[in-house]
Amino acid sequence: MSYSFQIKTIEQYQEAYKRSVEDPEGFWSEVADTFEWRKKQPFSSRVLDWNFDEPKIKWFEGAKLNITENCLDRHLKTSGDTPAIIWEPNDPNEKVRTLTYKVLHRKVCEFAQVLRNNGVRKGDRVCIYMGMIPELVIAVLACARIGAIHSVIFGGFSAQSIADRLDDAGAEYIITCDGAYRGAKDIPLKSIIDDALVGNKVVKRVIVHTRTRTPVSMIKGRDVWWRDEVEDVIETMHDEVLAIPAEEMDAEDPLFILYTSGSTGKPKGVVHTCAGYMLWTTYTFVNVFQYQPRDVFFCTADIGWITGHSYIAYGPLLSGATCLMFEGVPTWPDAGRFWEIVDKHKVNILYTAPTAIRSLMSYGLDPLKDKDLSSLKVLGTVGEPINEEAWHWYDEHIGKKKCPIVDTWWQTETGGILISNLAGVTPARPSWATLPLPGVQPLLVDEKGVEITEFTDEVMSGNLCMRAPWPGILRTTYGDHERCRQTYFSTYKDLYFTGDGAWKDEQGNYKITGRVDDVLNVSGHRLGTAEVENAINMHASVIESAVVGYPHEVKGQGVYAYVVLDEKRHKDEDDLTRKDILATVSRIIGPIAKPDKIQFVSGLPKTRSGKIMRRILRKVAEGELSNLGDTTTLLDPAIVDEIRDGRL
Ligand code: ATP
Ligand code: MG
Repeated sequence: MSYSFQIKTIEQYQEAYKRSVEDPEGFWSEVADTFEWRKKQPFSSRVLDWNFDEPKIKWFEGAKLNITENCLDRHLKTSGDTPAIIWEPNDPNEKVRTLTYKVLHRKVCEFAQVLRNNGVRKGDRVCIYMGMIPELVIAVLACARIGAIHSVIFGGFSAQSIADRLDDAGAEYIITCDGAYRGAKDIPLKSIIDDALVGNKVVKRVIVHTRTRTPVSMIKGRDVWWRDEVEDVIETMHDEVLAIPAEEMDAEDPLFILYTSGSTGKPKGVVHTCAGYMLWTTYTFVNVFQYQPRDVFFCTADIGWITGHSYIAYGPLLSGATCLMFEGVPTWPDAGRFWEIVDKHKVNILYTAPTAIRSLMSYGLDPLKDKDLSSLKVLGTVGEPINEEAWHWYDEHIGKKKCPIVDTWWQTETGGILISNLAGVTPARPSWATLPLPGVQPLLVDEKGVEITEFTDEVMSGNLCMRAPWPGILRTTYGDHERCRQTYFSTYKDLYFTGDGAWKDEQGNYKITGRVDDVLNVSGHRLGTAEVENAINMHASVIESAVVGYPHEVKGQGVYAYVVLDEKRHKDEDDLTRKDILATVSRIIGPIAKPDKIQFVSGLPKTRSGKIMRRILRKVAEGELSNLGDTTTLLDPAIVDEIRDGRL
């Protein structure tokens, strides 16, 4: 497959960008022409119909398609035998599975028929709660094939979090596994689903795939086995199942609901629709990573998060790419696992999160011994601002200084990457996301929503907003359009507000400084938490840190730092370390940014997608210990007690 819209030079980037702003409808229509449609859009309707007031955003409304025909069917003729998914199991000694496009297509068709047989229809909500196995992708695509709306819930969530999401989505169907392997752990998924379903009267059917052979209880009339159902389809329908047409969908029909990670509040059920999401994930995948046919692309995210949706399931398959899917965790059986996988499968593009990089850094260079890594061409990060130290480590020890690093800024709500350098095409800059993709029109505003146009000290700094919709923007929050309006479109009139703060330099590069809520105002100086953390993390004994503000009589806000130190340090030197950290921050940012309090902790409260839940840290720092809010999305709730008890 060749990509007519792949940008190869800076000039082409500038040209594409200009055109996308001046004539978005023409620009995206050309990209749309590279896909397969059941029906093109009627001439009478507009390619883009929008206002940010309601908000209403419609791209290609009236055009008809099925996204899975673009993910699968259209590749069969030319690349049916190309691997679509290479699956690396949790246990390195278990057999690797490779699913070609032909095999994946067949399996999706079969499972789509299973869903039909079980009563699932277009528009029904299907909750998917599985580990990272190929059947998860098959389940996702089978839903899309019949027009059911999938809502994947990360396999680490508790029964209560699942129950909340099932309820919010009004899901009647669940696809799950007996259990999931993650590192040394074996998670009993089906039994967690059973707990989540206590008192639930809406769910009609639970389809259970076998992975771990964990004993499960199957409820008569409600629960069925994946394998039995598929065998039934194969026996009764043979190859006919391949001939059943996929459901015809409108460009603006919902494709999926995905709940945000919840680092700032109650998770929101973000809704994406078929055509815009299809265009956006493909366009960004091919351009940001500069994917070339036959490259092996390894995204380490879980499909339970948007990164896994857009850059494991949809973007790569829409592009006919080969995607490596990994069941386990980076540190099991040891901290060299990612690097071993890179060598074993000759991975060309690696896409991971700063939190994973920092965690692997803390093991030193031993896990990298006897690893080759020479297959790597491009590295990527997503999820948080990447601190400079981690960036340089990634560049030096993983990329061997020859792989461009793309720092990709985006959100669940944006569907795909919005701000990033394009690997090897536009320049990278440590800890800067750099330039907006074609179609993306960022601006910075002050608290009142007035656009910032003046540079101070070579940068502008403000709240990051978007002026106009790109194809992949969210359309609503499920069942509550008003919440969507309130959260994203009401803070500043006629703008989409990202919730993040950013800097912009004179060349138009952006640097994300963290969430706007996390900007500190210390004696009238605005400091991004990411900046202060970046400086703290430079200290040799520091593994990770999180900074929040708290009310301070003199300064307005004081700086409270939670710091995770290297296990190997001398514990009796903690006071000295504290002083060294202050000196480090002072040297890197200035005395103004010196933390007023430094609490050493054994870990930080993180969401299951690896993000620091700062609102909890803020409450502890403020001394508001009684009501810490929704903590159901935390990975390790016990850490909260330690932090609370150790409060300074
Ligand atoms: P919630 O919205 O429920 O609080 P969340 O914002 O953590 O959860 P996501 O949509 O997964 O959920 O994360 C998007 C956020 O992650 C961005 O708004 C930004 O703060 C941060 N982020 C993602 N990528 C980057 C990046 N490359 N650089 C800096 N920040 C990033
Ligand atoms: Mg968010």
